[in-house]
Amino acid sequence: MRRVSIFGSTGSIGVNTVDLIARDRNAYEVVALTGGANIATLAEQARTLGAEIAVTAYPGKLGELRAALAGSGVEAAAGADALLEAADRPADWIMSAIVGAAGLPPGLRALRHGTTLALANKESLVCAGPLLLATARAHGARILPVDSEHSAVFQALVGEDIDAVERIVITASGGAFRDWPLERLAGATLQEASTHPNWDMGQRITIDSASMFNKGLELIETKEYFAVDPARIEAIVHPESLIHALVGFKDGALMAHVGPPDMRHAIGYALHWPERRSLPVQRLDLAAIGTMSFRAPCDARYPALRLAREVMETGGMAGAVFNGAKERALDHFIAGRCGFTEMAALVAEALAEVSGDSVIHADITLDNVRAVDQMARQAADAALPRVTKADGVQAAPA
Ligand code: NAD
Ligand code: MG
Repeated sequence: MRRVSIFGSTGSIGVNTVDLIARDRNAYEVVALTGGANIATLAEQARTLGAEIAVTAYPGKLGELRAALAGSGVEAAAGADALLEAADRPADWIMSAIVGAAGLPPGLRALRHGTTLALANKESLVCAGPLLLATARAHGARILPVDSEHSAVFQALVGEDIDAVERIVITASGGAFRDWPLERLAGATLQEASTHPNWDMGQRITIDSASMFNKGLELIETKEYFAVDPARIEAIVHPESLIHALVGFKDGALMAHVGPPDMRHAIGYALHWPERRSLPVQRLDLAAIGTMSFRAPCDARYPALRLAREVMETGGMAGAVFNGAKERALDHFIAGRCGFTEMAALVAEALAEVSGDSVIHADITLDNVRAVDQMARQAADAALPRVTKADGVQAAPA
């Protein structure tokens, strides 16, 4: 029996992972499931899968979790240390699907035990790619990409030599506002930004898709994971979201990964790797689809891509600044404190503010990444009054 844990089991990726495991219940021993405030879902998952332990990130929710698990035999725990202890429990495979930089510490901890880490939490690679990969190498652990584009690239590279790769093209749906007139973007509401044309995902990544901060993170994730020169990594708008990525080789061949927009494919691939097993995803009817279209991403619509390119050039911990500032800008947008287009302005200001060589190019340790992440969040907060005043939008106080 394979021992598996799911960090962030109550989220969009987590629920899809639970779905795959529940379909083949007898093949797995479920060790730890972790979530946040949604105790009902966490407890129900833990009961259904017979988990050893359920952990909520919030200490204030421990009583509620204990009550929800009463009589089930599932242990309950809460808080950041409990998440790390859950990552210490022996497992063969761990899904890293917490959202944001908060996913980094438990993922790193799991790698130290040599555990295979299925990585949906792209922020780990963006903030601390070299640390994550070095930790995996040092402990003989494997990291398998779960982001659909990166799973697609990983699959296109099976049996290939990375030196034969000329370019990597990741696709983007273009998000909720791909066809909006540019002048409407500044007034986009939270609800409008939280609707994705093709994928059903958590709210934060859905908004990041509308702004393409998600694609910016994914460009950096591609550079870190596959160790490819940033100049060889492209993003292209593909509104149908059927091709997830393409790998271009020296001889001119482009290998495309095609499939329905259903994360259970990438999750299932990482779960069964190196085997391919049957998965409950739709089979595409190409004749019914008829056509697939592509267009270059518009720089004015998606300033996040330009910022991500700067970050890839800078290297070091610039990714941690980009991500920390982006997370904070997103908090501000969700809380109504800044407008949609002001998120990019906040991140640009934070990147300019937190840019000293001694900070960005210090050793990439967990402590340094945390410090830089905090500096980026503070810089985004400090820029908030300037940025929101600049274009006359009346923002609520932070
Ligand atoms: P989500 O918001 O639906 O779920 C997030 C999970 O993390 C929940 O279980 C939540 O309780 C937990 N969580 C949130 N904050 C936490 C904290 N501070 N500490 C501990 N746990 C916390 O997010 P999602 O859409 O499932 O995305 C999860 C990760 O996977 C993200 O890194 C995202 O970028 C990546 N990803 C998601 C998709 C997708 O289709 N949803 C696709 C590719 C990559
Ligand atoms: Mg993706």
